[in-house]
Amino acid sequence: MAGHADRVSGLRLLDPLPPELLRSDAPTLLAALGGPTLARVPGTGGSAGGSAGGSAGTAGARPRGVVVLQHGDERTGLDALLTVLRDDPPLPYDLHVLFGNVEAALAPPGFAHRMLPHQADMNRAWFADGEPGGGHDTVSVAARAALHRLRDLDLAAVVDLHNTTGDNPFHAIVATDDPATRALAALFTPLIVRWDQQLHTLLEGLRDHCVAVTVECGRAGSDGAHAFAVAGLRRYLAAPDPARLHAPDDVRVLRRMRRVIVDPTATLAFGGVDADDGRLTADVVVAADVEARNGVGQDAGWLLATVRPGHERSLRVRDIDGVDVTDALLEVERGQVRVRTATTPLMMTGSVAAARADCLTYLLDRGV
Ligand SMILES: [Zn+2]
Repeated sequence: MAGHADRVSGLRLLDPLPPELLRSDAPTLLAALGGPTLARVPGTGGSAGGSAGGSAGTAGARPRGVVVLQHGDERTGLDALLTVLRDDPPLPYDLHVLFGNVEAALAPPGFAHRMLPHQADMNRAWFADGEPGGGHDTVSVAARAALHRLRDLDLAAVVDLHNTTGDNPFHAIVATDDPATRALAALFTPLIVRWDQQLHTLLEGLRDHCVAVTVECGRAGSDGAHAFAVAGLRRYLAAPDPARLHAPDDVRVLRRMRRVIVDPTATLAFGGVDADDGRLTADVVVAADVEARNGVGQDAGWLLATVRPGHERSLRVRDIDGVDVTDALLEVERGQVRVRTATTPLMMTGSVAAARADCLTYLLDRGV
């Protein structure tokens, strides 16, 4: 049966998602969708206006949501979802799947672009109450339309799957710290980050509507990423009621996302120490293996960077509200920039371009 397709403000609605599309490979599926799409995978319970009668016992189970490809180069979530939907028995409830920035994923050579030059970052464009978030590009318009739909669907939960740019441990991100949200995150991983920024992300948009988590499945294509996402999705989809879970005791919640920014006028290098004379090859030099620290609790006094004379203040730390907290967090002695307190770095990148585009790293309270 062909799916009923509709289009609302740049968002394609597909109800149901045609089963033959699930059997095609990821590029073929995305080519058929063509753009941001919200699709229903019907459950056997016949909820949400499915087949007449429905089956006993599961009718009325609240539908759930999965979001993939908010960023076109983060394909792990899509691949994992296709694996689960193809291989596992049908679900007893409706699953609503949002395929995010399909155009960016399709752009040659495929799964290579976070977004296209004319597009907003989808996970900064989910709602508009002033700027930013009020963009008129296709991604912003579709995201706002999708948020209205997701809110109206009375979803029991939403899981939003991503990859990180650099090497990071698997972790989940939550925008509220209630036990049910923490427990939903723990279905994927015991390492949880409390998102406290206001950047018009999907999590912020859903905060008052249903339990929702973002799951970071490491670098796209990295070892174990697919298996991690498949296992977590299976636990999520099998959970009797994801809005009423109990978190295990071993979860670790990292809080306070402080951004470390490199002064744009200073040169930056990773591993930039001359082998012969030990001189720095840039104004700010960060260890080449710095990504190995991601998600690992560091004791007070750990070495973040080395700087040339005159660049003692080229690394700045900003708190959630944008307040400069550099002096509370960093100390510089003989060109060595150390972090004063026990912290856990996350999203530390080993790429100069990425450090320039966003930040060098986030420093979080260490967690327990
Ligand atoms: Zn992402």
